[in-house]
Amino acid sequence: MSSSINTPTHFIRNIIDQNKRGVTTRFPPEPNGYLHIGHAKSICLNFGLAEDYNGRCHLRFDDTNPHKENAEFIEAIKRDVTWLGYTWGGEPRFASDYFEQLYQYAVELIKKNKAYVCDLSAEETRVYRGTLTERGKDSPYRNRSIDENLDLFARMRAGKFTDGQCVLRAKIDMAAPNINLRDPAIYRIRHGVIHHQTGEAWCMYPMYDFTHCLSDAIEAITYSLCTLEFEDHRPLYDWFLDTLAVPCHPQQIEFSRLELQYTITSKRKLSQLVDEGVVANWDDPRMPTIAGLRRRGFTPASLRDFCRRIGVTKSENNVEMSVLESCIREDLNDNAPRRMAVLHPLKVVLTNYDEDKTEKISAANHPQKEEMGQRTVPFSRELYIDREDFREEAPKKFKRLVIGGEVRLRNAYVIRCDMVVKDAEGEIIELHCSYDPDTLGKTPEGRKVKGVIHWVSAADAIPAEIRLYDRLFTQAHPDANSLEGNFLDYLNPDSLRTLTHCFVEASLASAQVEDHFQFEREGYFTVDPDHHQGQLVFNRTVTLRDSWAKIEKTG
Ligand code: ATP
Ligand code: MG
Repeated sequence: MSSSINTPTHFIRNIIDQNKRGVTTRFPPEPNGYLHIGHAKSICLNFGLAEDYNGRCHLRFDDTNPHKENAEFIEAIKRDVTWLGYTWGGEPRFASDYFEQLYQYAVELIKKNKAYVCDLSAEETRVYRGTLTERGKDSPYRNRSIDENLDLFARMRAGKFTDGQCVLRAKIDMAAPNINLRDPAIYRIRHGVIHHQTGEAWCMYPMYDFTHCLSDAIEAITYSLCTLEFEDHRPLYDWFLDTLAVPCHPQQIEFSRLELQYTITSKRKLSQLVDEGVVANWDDPRMPTIAGLRRRGFTPASLRDFCRRIGVTKSENNVEMSVLESCIREDLNDNAPRRMAVLHPLKVVLTNYDEDKTEKISAANHPQKEEMGQRTVPFSRELYIDREDFREEAPKKFKRLVIGGEVRLRNAYVIRCDMVVKDAEGEIIELHCSYDPDTLGKTPEGRKVKGVIHWVSAADAIPAEIRLYDRLFTQAHPDANSLEGNFLDYLNPDSLRTLTHCFVEASLASAQVEDHFQFEREGYFTVDPDHHQGQLVFNRTVTLRDSWAKIEKTG
């Protein structure tokens, strides 16, 4: 877990160090979708600071928009935060827990002559608001008496008005250069929604800007950390807290949103991908959601490492996919046991090997880490190697198997290819090879064997499906305004390739969902929860090398 020793400092830590007051933060997701990698940044920041400063971090669902929210998302969010390795202080909280208190705060505003019920239509309100260059105009309802407002607001609550008939607005300044201060709405009427927490108790709901600062104050949050788009809302955040008699005044600090290239970090757009069936679900391994990354084979440690590396600043945080990939590659390079798997099988018959013989060869689970132990790999007369590891016509630098040439089978013997067997169409179906019994784990003096390839024993191997993933979009910034059309026009048609006839070594029979492996020479893989009648399904988490650097494969 992160500690102050290995957490790089940043401007928010500097502010905290200067202030010398306790650290209580909160992570406030709206339960209208699954969390994505951008949320991971916010989670690591909020929970990480609480840990480092011996404070606490609340998990608070910002549930003021009930028609888009649901209980599945609440559960998914809790699961993802926990999986990332964090524990929230106390029970999960809900902005809706404070609806009664918020109502009382709204009444207090009215009594201070700082809020009024306004009957302008949505369209009229927009016109009255003005623009960036033009000041707004006072609503004709702005000067209603306190008593009239108290009465109207009580009747709003009692369900006497229809949706949109009126709103409660803060009375601030219609000439303010900051549009957020031009008498923003603080309550709107929503009949007929069944709120996942409060049911039908309310027919009006408080707006985000009003709810958020007061929820922070009620919970005695000291640092309210949010993304930069809320910078212009800070004067409003402070206005509510300065105007009302609140127990404390949290400090809002903004930082930049994470943008990850070749994907999107917007819940609305991600839910479009799910709803339109572009991906299988929120946890599709191509999704930048925490659940998707988890299913793809990312570990909590790798995501926390990623968030540490990208840092926290106010400047643009546009990050290349290779940064995320190198975090998981480093983790799995250290920690994933090595295994052999053949993705495009080609049968090899060792003509000089006994038909009924099987050897049990011992192979290291990790080349550098003896403590990770050994496993047994069966070796027999019929094997599978990868089609790519044999060429009939090969350039000189091709180090793998060719007719008349030799190659070492990883952990086992040197073999020579003697003959190619083809079917009627001329497709290679089998290689006849001979093995050299003197080469188990050693190469005799003076003998040069250039290549090492992986293999599995045909009789013992387990059939598996292997899913290979690529970036979900063909554009680094699929939702950029400069592009024609919308982000759905830039989907990568090859983001998923499914190989259904693979073979993996026998020891993988006991592999569990979410176990991680390095399939030698192929990349890092994890076991997917899908099973096809007992057939294992693996997801490739990431290739061995940085595929984004376009390193050419040898040969
Ligand atoms: P989205 O646009 O994906 O719906 P949001 O900000 O509306 O994002 P919330 O559920 O309100 O989603 O987010 C909870 C917290 O996570 C907020 O404090 C928000 O600022 C933060 N957050 C959301 N997206 C990012 C991101 N890309 N980078 C950093 N923090 C983010
Ligand atoms: Mg939000």
